[in-house]
Amino acid sequence: MPTDPARHSHPTLRSKFAVVLALSAAALGARALPTSAPESVAVQLRDAALAGHSLAYEWVSELTTRFGPRPAGSASEHQAAEWAAARLKSLGFENAHIEGFPITAWARGSESGAIIAPRAQPLVVAALGESPPTPAAGLDGDVVIFASLAELKAAAPGSLAGKVAMVDERTVRTQDGAGYSAAVEGRTEGAHEAAQRGAIAFLLRSVGTDNHRIVHTGTAHYVDGRVPVPAFALSAPDADQIERIARLGQTVRVHLFSSASYLPNAHSQNVIAEVRGRERPQEVVLLGAHLDSWDQGTGAIDDGTGTAIVVAAAKLIRDAPHRPRRTVRVVLFGSEEVSQPVPPESVFGGHAYASNHQAELVDHVLVGESDLGTDRVYSFALPKGASVEFARSALRVLNPIGILAADGPPAEAGADVGPCIDAGVPAFQLSQDATHYFDIHHTPDDTLDKVDRSQLDQNVAAWAALVWLVADSDVDFRAAAASAAHP
Ligand SMILES: [Zn+2]
Repeated sequence: MPTDPARHSHPTLRSKFAVVLALSAAALGARALPTSAPESVAVQLRDAALAGHSLAYEWVSELTTRFGPRPAGSASEHQAAEWAAARLKSLGFENAHIEGFPITAWARGSESGAIIAPRAQPLVVAALGESPPTPAAGLDGDVVIFASLAELKAAAPGSLAGKVAMVDERTVRTQDGAGYSAAVEGRTEGAHEAAQRGAIAFLLRSVGTDNHRIVHTGTAHYVDGRVPVPAFALSAPDADQIERIARLGQTVRVHLFSSASYLPNAHSQNVIAEVRGRERPQEVVLLGAHLDSWDQGTGAIDDGTGTAIVVAAAKLIRDAPHRPRRTVRVVLFGSEEVSQPVPPESVFGGHAYASNHQAELVDHVLVGESDLGTDRVYSFALPKGASVEFARSALRVLNPIGILAADGPPAEAGADVGPCIDAGVPAFQLSQDATHYFDIHHTPDDTLDKVDRSQLDQNVAAWAALVWLVADSDVDFRAAAASAAHP
């Protein structure tokens, strides 16, 4: 059902919000905080979000319903960006606009896989992003299994001639997502390493923690501007079966087919909008998430909810009784999923933003990104040397909603804000519970029904509260980080 944009000016939300503000202010009376003190406003924003008075769920529902899958460079990604820019404008954000950049898009074609010997069995496979098609008739090869990427890298040159190399590494389930980080290089580097040793194709046990016959896709990295051989992920149960047949001492022969293609003159885009600061509008607190998604689900948790969280948090800030001192800038990045690590291939939203806004980066106070699904936030990390008073204030506001202070600064704040961080901008992190995220990540199961509204609200509460504290403060996180790094 189409939604009337006028609804998004939220007269009802404003009045509900006013009630929550009044209640929070009354509750805070005992603490004798002035209602306009940054911490007091942060508490009010937090409680409004927790009470469900944010547009987060409505945003992700509408995004995934209207535009479905949003692969980088596709018409649906482009249309979602136009919708988002128009919606942000109608919500009262300032400077809502789109910044486009050229990319070579990758499009999945049809694809299939099967064991053809010692006994026929269909395989559940999906081509890895950016990997080339097979010949039109497909290709056949004997599988050589490696327990890890490291083991594949230890294979001798030429030892895989005519073979299909398979990396069979399991993804460890962890709360912080470290299991994914440990396994993902098999996906990004495997095809290249296999091809260097003569393989004709690459197979990967899905980088995921489920045991369903669904596949986790994702990008393979270019080396010298290309992925050299067709590369596929396969479901965990299919990887198990190949592994067991091989353990019987039998050679597993597979047939693989993909008609993936490249679209060299495509475009992607970032969507940008602001709540301008009341005192130092040139100082920017950047909240990022990505609007593109993989093609087989509807990108609900990766990263529809991330866009919903940052937009909803910024909208609560926009509707607060007064503006924060600094500008809060929302950036919905394009083309994140296909990002490449090495120039000149690394043209993606995060890179395009950092180069378009290079001159302004010196005034970027702090950046953060939401891109780990929708499960609850359990810890926050601030850049090195953020003042002790600021960290204490953040803990007072976040601890009541189940969030602890991390031991150190953010280890990895996100792909999209990476180029800003590389340029010296400090980052914060609100870490989400990733225990179940990699059951669904990059699969056809990434759909709206997986979104838990109360957890989504907790995320918005955390973002609105912490971002308010940052945006309404005088703390120079960059200076603090620099002096901490060079004592
Ligand atoms: Zn993502």
